[in-house]
Amino acid sequence: MYLKTLHLRQFRNYLDQQVDFSAPKTILVGANAQGKSNLLEAVELLATLRSHRVSRDRDLVQEGATTAQITAVLEREPGCIDLALRLRSSGRRTISLNQQTLGRHLDFLGTLNAVQFSCLDLELVRGSPERRRTWLDMLLVQLEPIYAHILQQYNQILRQRNALLKGLLATSASSDFPPDTPSELGFWDAQLATAGARVIRRRARVIERLAPLAHTWHQQISGSTETLEVRYLPNVGQEDDDPESVQQAFLAKLQQRAIAEQHQGITLVGPHRDEVELIINQTPARQYGSQGQQRTLVLALKLAELNLIEAIVGETPLLLLDDVLAELDPHRQNQLLSTIQDRFQTLITTTHLSSFDNGWLDSSQILTVQAGQ
Ligand code: ATP
Ligand code: MG
Repeated sequence: MYLKTLHLRQFRNYLDQQVDFSAPKTILVGANAQGKSNLLEAVELLATLRSHRVSRDRDLVQEGATTAQITAVLEREPGCIDLALRLRSSGRRTISLNQQTLGRHLDFLGTLNAVQFSCLDLELVRGSPERRRTWLDMLLVQLEPIYAHILQQYNQILRQRNALLKGLLATSASSDFPPDTPSELGFWDAQLATAGARVIRRRARVIERLAPLAHTWHQQISGSTETLEVRYLPNVGQEDDDPESVQQAFLAKLQQRAIAEQHQGITLVGPHRDEVELIINQTPARQYGSQGQQRTLVLALKLAELNLIEAIVGETPLLLLDDVLAELDPHRQNQLLSTIQDRFQTLITTTHLSSFDNGWLDSSQILTVQAGQ
C-alpha cells in the first residue's frame, strides 16, 4: 500500500499542512521539538486509532483549538481510499472512509497498515506485561479489525464483573456474615470465559505465526549465535485452538481463584493478565538482555511484524521509523535499511542526515520539518 498524501489540521503543532509523498522513502529531518514524531503519530492514528504516546485526544488537538483533523489518500488494491479522522478535545471522534462516516471503529481499522518503531519500543522488552499486551493487541487490530470489537467486549464484561466483586467485598466488610456467592457472579463468569477465550485464541494464533519470523530475523541480525523465542503465556494456562477447552480452563481457574478474588474484590483471571515472554538463549530478555541485545530483539520483532502483515493482508504495510537509526550500530542499520529497500513505504525521522549513505539520500524524498511546517 502507498500513502499518497497526508493532511493535518490543528493536529499537535501542525496548523494546516499537506504532505505529498513522492517517493517510497521519506526522510523527515529537523531539530528537536519541530513536529517530526507528530507527523508519524498522525499516520499511526490512522492505522490503529491509537497513539502510543498519549491516551487522551485532548493532547492531540492543537492547544487553543477544540478539534483536529487527519486526512489521507491511500493507494491500495483495488483503488485509492480517502481516510479521515476528526478528533475533539471532548474525546468524541468521527471517522470516515471515502467521505462516508462510519459508526464502528472496526470498519475503519485495517485500511491503512503500519508498523512503527521508535526508541520507546525498548519498553517492549523492559516494560510491564501490559506494554507487550498492548503491542500484541494493536498488531491484531490491524490484522483482524474484528478483534477491536472482541477486545472491547471482553473489557466491558471485565469492568462489570470487577464492579460486582467490589460490591460484594464492600457488603462482606459491613456485615458479620460472608455473603453467599450470588448467582450473578456465575453469570459474569460464563460471559468472561466466552469473551476471554476469543481474545486468547487470537493472541495465541498471532504469536504462533510471528515467533518463527522473529526467530529467523534475530538470527540474521545477531549473527546466528543467539536464539530468540517468543512465547505466549495465557494467564488461564490454556491456549488450545478449541474454544470449548479454553473456556473450560478459564472457568476452572476462576473457581481456583474464587476466594482470592472475593478477598481482593477484583478479577484475577483472564487475558488482561497475559504475558508474552521474550527469551534469548533460554533467558528472559527483560532481566538479562544487554541494551544491544534488547535493541536487536525489538528490531527482529518489528521486521517480523512487517512480514506477517504482508503475508496476511496481502499488501506491504508502511514502516514508521522514529529516531531509531542513530540508536543502531552500523551492522543493524544495514540490516534494517537493506530490508526496507523500496519494498515498504517508509517514513523516517532524524535530526541529521549523516546516518544515511548517498544511495539512500538520492533515492529518498527529504522533507525539512520546522515548527509544525
Ligand atoms: P525530537 O527530535 O525531539 O523527537 P520532534 O520533531 O519529533 O522532536 P515532536 O514530538 O513531533 O518533535 O513535536 C513536539 C512539538 O509539538 C513540541 O514543540 C510541542 O510543544 C508541540 N506540541 C505537542 N502537542 C501539541 C499540541 N497539542 N498543540 C500544540 N503543540 C503541540
Ligand atoms: Mg521525535
